Order: sequence, then C-alpha cells, then structure tokens
Amino acid sequence: QAKKAGKNNHRWFDPAMERDLRDRHALERALRSGIAAGDFVPYYQQQIDIATGRITGFEMLARWQSERYGHIGPEDFIPLAEEIGVIGDLSERLIRQALHDAREWDPALTLAVNISPLQLRDPWFAQRLLKLLIESNFPPHRLELEVTETCLHENLAQVRSLLVSLRNQGITISLDDFGSGYSSLSQLQSLPFDRLKIDRAFVSPMTGCAESATIVRAISSLGEGLGLPVTAEGVESAEIAAELRELGNLQAQGYLYGRPESAEQTRARLAALGLIASPALPAPAAPD
Ligand code: C2E
Ligand code: MG
Ligand code: MG
Ligand code: MG
Repeated sequence: QAKKAGKNNHRWFDPAMERDLRDRHALERALRSGIAAGDFVPYYQQQIDIATGRITGFEMLARWQSERYGHIGPEDFIPLAEEIGVIGDLSERLIRQALHDAREWDPALTLAVNISPLQLRDPWFAQRLLKLLIESNFPPHRLELEVTETCLHENLAQVRSLLVSLRNQGITISLDDFGSGYSSLSQLQSLPFDRLKIDRAFVSPMTGCAESATIVRAISSLGEGLGLPVTAEGVESAEIAAELRELGNLQAQGYLYGRPESAEQTRARLAALGLIASPALPAPAAPD
C-alpha cells in the first residue's frame, strides 16, 4: 500500500484499514454503511482557462470521510464500489449533491463528473441521469461527463449510442486520462467526444522531461486538429502553465490553481470572486 499512498496523496490514517483490507467483508460493510450514512461527499477542483486565468468550472472528485479510517481518496474505494456493485448508487448520490451545490454557482460555470465504465453498461444509466438533472433543475449543457478509455473496450457500439444520446441532450463528454490507456486514434474519430483531458502523468513532469513535453504538445495539436478542446491535468507549477500557454488555448487543472475542496470552501472561493448566483438552497431530498 505504500506505493499507492505515495501516488495518491492519501494515506491509511488508521491501521484498522490495513487490517480490514485483509478482512474484505469489514471493508465492504464499512463502504455500504458509509454510503447509507452519507459519508461520501463531493469535493471540487477548479478548471481554468489558461489564456484568461478564469475559472470555467469544477471537477467533482469523491471523498470518503470515514469515522473508522479517516479521509480516503477515490482510488482506494471506487474499485471496491465497482466490485461489490454499489458504484451506480454511490455515484448517483454524489451527483445529486453536486448538482445541488453547482446550482448556486454562476450559471456560466460547468460541473464535470467522473463516470465508471460499469455505469456506462447499465441500460438505465441515461434515464437515471436525466431524471437527476430534471429533479435538480440543472441545465444539461452545464454538465460534463468524464469517461476513460477503459469504457471503450467492450460494447463499443452500445457505449457509442449511449454517449450520442446523452450528448443530444446537451451533456458534454470528455475523454479523461487521455494517453494513459488503450484508446486507438480511430476511436477518437468514431466516438462523440467533446474534449480531451491529458493525463497528469504527462503534464506534471513536462518541464523536466522532454518526452512528456513532446506528448503533451502532440495531444494538444491532435485536439486542435480534431476541433476538440483540451484540458491539461496535473498543472503543478507556473513553469508548466507557461509552457502550456504557448501551446494555445488550453484548459488547465492542477494544484497550481487549487486542490480539490469541499462544497463550503468552493462556495466561499466563488463568493469572493462574485461567482455565486443564488442564495444557499435547502439540502436535496434524500434518495428513496
Ligand atoms: P481523475 O478524474 O483523473 O482526477 C484527477 C486526479 O488528479 C484527482 O485525484 C485530483 O485530485 C488529482 N490532481 C489534480 N491536480 C493535481 C496535481 O496538480 N497534481 C497531482 N499529483 N494530482 C492532481 P483523486 O481525487 O484522488 O481522484 C482519483 C481518480 O478517482 C480520478 O481521476 C477519477 O478517475 C476517480 N474518481 C474520483 N471521483 C470519482 C467518482 O465520483 N466516480 C468515479 N467513477 N471515479 C471517481
Ligand atoms: Mg476526471
Ligand atoms: Mg484524469
Ligand atoms: Mg485518473
């Protein structure tokens, strides 16, 4: 686990978790009861138009505030949630809360959410998502779904028609972690993506690593050639931002601009910028 912890910046705060990792049932139980108890919350990370320095929107990143384990990052619980079949339920609750939070933001700001490949295989996914949007009175054009290349392995035709129908509703589709998976360039052509997100594994080291910089440049011009806007994730320094600015009009996301923050911190940040549209809304109704 040491390697994972280093990479994700989240640690096992409690030896109980290491123990429970061996006792899978305890961890599963904690996950299920955590979902029911509302211990999973959305955090938000800013996305910046690198040319103007303005916030264009936020990516929702799930956090588990576990009494037993401390504060746990998604790379440690999303795979488990997928494995035990609760990812759809968990994701829906997080999205419901996120739509509620984002409704208070300036209406020009977008909300991006990550969608697991398993969710895309659920035949009811589109219908449930649209229902959430309607219930939250949230305009579909402000919502962006981030999907990764792994969703493209199987059922390509099914995934394509799902993405096309969501897109027809006005939802934006981004290809996340581009360059790190298995997508072929032909999929880029045949699937209805609206944006490419360059994996931070290329962006973070780009000022010290010529190969990474070359890959970032190549993806940026690929996006430009295909008419797809590009986001660089993992922008950790002003030097990286300066190099990206020379590549053209990219969107940037990373610790340089801000870490993922709670709904309250996000709201305060936006309020200071005059980007809160409406007064605080009552909490969303609990799911049935
Ligand atoms: P992702 O969608 O690629 O999200 C970007 C990750 O990079 C986030 O990690 C973010 O905190 C981190 N990050 C952002 N800027 C920087 C930076 O400058 N430097 C570094 N080192 N890291 C940065 P996080 O929050 O741990 O999320 C990890 C992954 O978990 C996400 O990767 C996404 O694939 C998944 N995830 C998060 N929330 C959800 C969710 O609600 N549903 C699903 N299915 N997956 C989720
Ligand atoms: Mg993402
Ligand atoms: Mg990513
Ligand atoms: Mg990732």
